[in-house]
Amino acid sequence: MTHTMQALVKAEPRQGLWRKTQPIPEIGPEDVLIRINKTGICGTDIHIWAWDDWAQRTVPVPLITGHEFAGEIADIGSHVRDFRVGQRCSGEGHLIGHSSRQSRAGKFHLDPETRGIGVNEPGAFAEYLKLPAFNVVPLPDDIPDEIGAIMDPLGNAVHTALSFDLIGEDVLITGAGPIGIMAAAVARHVGARHIVITDVNPYRLDLAGRVADVVPVNVTQTDLQDVMYGLGMREGFDVGLEMSGAQAALDQMVEALVMGGRIAMLGIPPGRSPVDWSRIVFKAITLKGVYGREIFETWYKMIAMLQNGLDVSSVITHRFNAEAFEAGFDAMGSGQSGKVVLDWRHAA
Ligand code: ZN
Repeated sequence: MTHTMQALVKAEPRQGLWRKTQPIPEIGPEDVLIRINKTGICGTDIHIWAWDDWAQRTVPVPLITGHEFAGEIADIGSHVRDFRVGQRCSGEGHLIGHSSRQSRAGKFHLDPETRGIGVNEPGAFAEYLKLPAFNVVPLPDDIPDEIGAIMDPLGNAVHTALSFDLIGEDVLITGAGPIGIMAAAVARHVGARHIVITDVNPYRLDLAGRVADVVPVNVTQTDLQDVMYGLGMREGFDVGLEMSGAQAALDQMVEALVMGGRIAMLGIPPGRSPVDWSRIVFKAITLKGVYGREIFETWYKMIAMLQNGLDVSSVITHRFNAEAFEAGFDAMGSGQSGKVVLDWRHAA
């Protein structure tokens, strides 16, 4: 085996990513080495590419970026018993500690010390990734690498959508990015009645309508109230999934919810965001913030649903070889894409 690999590195503290030759990571006794087959480009990666305020505060330079991946196990540490070389896998990109109260209670996704691959620690935009064996999630044969590579954001969608009971409920999703669209597909899969997804981007609304059985609504052209009346909804949506981080969207969601409605929030507002709390109090609304995926409950649910008919494959709209990563980032930045997947096995 050679000792070097190709990787996408945040090599300098300015806009861009650079394809560089890097040493293959050395694994410890509790780690596995994963040969990467496919990776997904995330909105987070766009922030790191752009080197915005958040990225400057968060990301050390140099760092291999990327956290959405599927691959196969190339080597295992001396203490690893549960996996074998050649096994296909994805994995949880949050590296957690085991000493906090939440972690010791088994709520690993709530560990305050969590560190992210591709954000704080070396990531997956590379031919090889080192990952604690604890974080590995094996991929069943009927889940292709391309889907394995988007299980991180699909997990966000599943975690958010399953925050509240959706069976027979009317669901409003604000934000038709890939996670909002996948959340719509999940809501349909688990038995919601009406599912309405809002955005201001026609491309994304069109994609939402093709991926999931939902009603896409462009809020710059259509009044949400008219849509509700058209669907025969008298009192409002039962559950809201906020995926946009847009102030106007949250406002509209609070307005469109029933008394006692529930909101799961994954979208991140750009800064402090004024909220009409009296509306939330008087409507008796429950709000839940959602972070990452439940480790590993979300992964079990997600795999089980994928094996039982949940189909999100058409949310992937662009595919590139890894050496053409700049085209992939351009597609992501254009607002005219769903998920963009990079192929690391067929790169030159
Ligand atoms: Zn991501």
